[in-house]
Amino acid sequence: MNQAVQEKPAAKRKPKETGVPDNKKYLHPLMSKNYGKWKYHDRPRPGVLHHVAHSGDQIWTVRAGTQRQMDVGTIRLLCDIADKYAEGHVRFTIRSNIEYMVSKAEKVDPLIAELEKHGFPVGGTGNSVSMIAHTQGWLHCDIPGTDASGVVKALMDELIVEFKREEMPNRVHLSTSCCEINCGGQADIAIIVQHTKPPVINHDLVANVCERPTVVARCPVAAIRPAMVNGKPSLEIDETKCMCCGACYPPCPPMQINDPEYSKLAIWVGGKNSNARGKPTFMKMVASGLPNNAPRWPEVSAVVKQILHVYKEDARPWERMADWIDRIGWPRFFEKTELPFTKYLIDDWRGSRSTFNASTHIRF
Ligand code: SF4
Ligand code: SF4
Repeated sequence: MNQAVQEKPAAKRKPKETGVPDNKKYLHPLMSKNYGKWKYHDRPRPGVLHHVAHSGDQIWTVRAGTQRQMDVGTIRLLCDIADKYAEGHVRFTIRSNIEYMVSKAEKVDPLIAELEKHGFPVGGTGNSVSMIAHTQGWLHCDIPGTDASGVVKALMDELIVEFKREEMPNRVHLSTSCCEINCGGQADIAIIVQHTKPPVINHDLVANVCERPTVVARCPVAAIRPAMVNGKPSLEIDETKCMCCGACYPPCPPMQINDPEYSKLAIWVGGKNSNARGKPTFMKMVASGLPNNAPRWPEVSAVVKQILHVYKEDARPWERMADWIDRIGWPRFFEKTELPFTKYLIDDWRGSRSTFNASTHIRF
């Protein structure tokens, strides 16, 4: 018989999935046992969820705020608390809250007391201001124009009461982003770096550090072109086109855009990812040019608190920030919050022509 016919075909290699691991094995045993079989849930107090299963099992979830970027000592402390009260199980929410699941009602109050004794506030459930989703900032990333966890700490120090109570019209999600282009995401109120000057190029370094075609391709408005400077290959920027986005800085650090004076902070409102009541929405900028004033960013805190205060007073029950603004309209939003409406809030980027032309309100 022919040798080639006898050989077995090689077994097909199975694709290796490297996505999110199966979480079932990490769940609290009561959660696994009653997975998908819950009868109802309620909130006995802010920061505590109570789930009742069809089997009669009950579980209490206690939510506490954390600083997200934690040292090993803090993580060990949180784990010790889990061993003591929650059969060694915890989970983190997308806004960096830690949650402990406990199987007996009498464990809830001692757990809350222990968390608060160590400085972890309990709250963030229901219609509260949850912990701020934030990016890496100076600690881990190589391109930030400001800190992220620092802004969060300063702001949450002032909003802690709203974290511990459920007194907002609907839940309020906040986020911070320490550059204009990468992490962050949609939030009811977002604090985002805003560069106001084009990058300054260190021509001596460009030839050694940057892959010039990559940098040229990176610019969304084609403002960068190759150039010879002092006899060396470098780059130049057409500053009339540059919109100061900072996208060229990560692939080419000699194009420095971060500046102690001209890198500012802007505040955007009305974003959400959820489909509840209305479709997901994008944020709009409502305050620009706020000073990047570490370590407490008081100007940013003042504007965020101003917006939150008016929203709390004026929105109807269950209106998210976007729903509220939709109902009252942008002119009333600026009147009520007393924020100045300036030319810097108008989207004058030339690429937005097609967006404008999609509406019947503005055409050109
Ligand atoms: S927002 Fe930008 S600067 Fe901040 S961590 Fe993300 S990529 Fe880095
Ligand atoms: S900051 Fe943005 S728009 Fe300006 S040159 Fe760099 S990539 Fe282009």
